[in-house]
Amino acid sequence: MFNLVKKGMTKEEKMQQVLDWIEEADAVVIGGASGMSTANGFDYYNQHTPFFEEHFGDFGKIYGEGSAWNLLYHHYRNDEERWAYMARSGAVMLDLPVGKTYTDLYELVKHKDHYIITTNQDAQFSKVFDINKIFTIQGDAHWMQCSERCSPEIYPSEETLHRLNASIVDGKLKTEDVPRCPKCGAVMEPWVKSFIFQYGDYWNKEADKYKAYLEKHKNEKILFLGLGIGRMTPEFIKHPFINMTYGFENARCAFLNMGEPEPMKEVADKTIALNVDILETLDQMVNLQKERASSMKNGNVDRKAVVNA
Ligand SMILES: [Zn+2]
Repeated sequence: MFNLVKKGMTKEEKMQQVLDWIEEADAVVIGGASGMSTANGFDYYNQHTPFFEEHFGDFGKIYGEGSAWNLLYHHYRNDEERWAYMARSGAVMLDLPVGKTYTDLYELVKHKDHYIITTNQDAQFSKVFDINKIFTIQGDAHWMQCSERCSPEIYPSEETLHRLNASIVDGKLKTEDVPRCPKCGAVMEPWVKSFIFQYGDYWNKEADKYKAYLEKHKNEKILFLGLGIGRMTPEFIKHPFINMTYGFENARCAFLNMGEPEPMKEVADKTIALNVDILETLDQMVNLQKERASSMKNGNVDRKAVVNA
């Protein structure tokens, strides 16, 4: 039975309730946003963080910016400068180790039928989850597209990003190194959300797979698990999760994020809101899950009591 939420639960009770739902769910739909990565210190938004200084400090000095986000939207004078930053940024994303929030989340749901939708473009989910079960709704560092969108194709980026990152001098690339479209010769563009974002065959196929997953499981016990979703783009994950929780009779929902507000009253009895540090909380939930598993294995018998008897 998928419990309804009781009022006035403590943090531990909420975590236990989410673990119950995970165990009982026929399907777990994970929605991951920037807080999932920021919690590990992979901070693309705040000014002059240790992460920024380590990976982008040289660009920060040259272009007078303090965050990866600002460098992304910096007005570069030419493609040689702009693509140097794109190459660094993409290579950093592909090369970073997987963050603990992601490995902990994997521990929690790996034995359950699951699917992921994410606004993150930093490829972290793909380092631990099956890439065939991840819908990167705003694109992803693994791909590039033609800036003129001359065809619906997108192109693998990994080899290009690493090669270009290694050839940056003083925050610039050589003109001949700027990547160009193999079909029309226009400058390439990272495949991430922008005014020219390529909603091509790949995106549409991935969107259809995600919709089919929801369609298949919508009448079953389906759990929506939203992680690290802030206020930047709630229209992609948060609002649809709330709507589906409201509309699907057997759905439950949990949101974990720093500053997470209380659930809307229409879905309050089906939703757990955890206003928490997700790095710490996912770790606690993995430990609670392990305690459950070992108490099951011991047939719920308190070992100490047996020894003492
Ligand atoms: Zn082209």
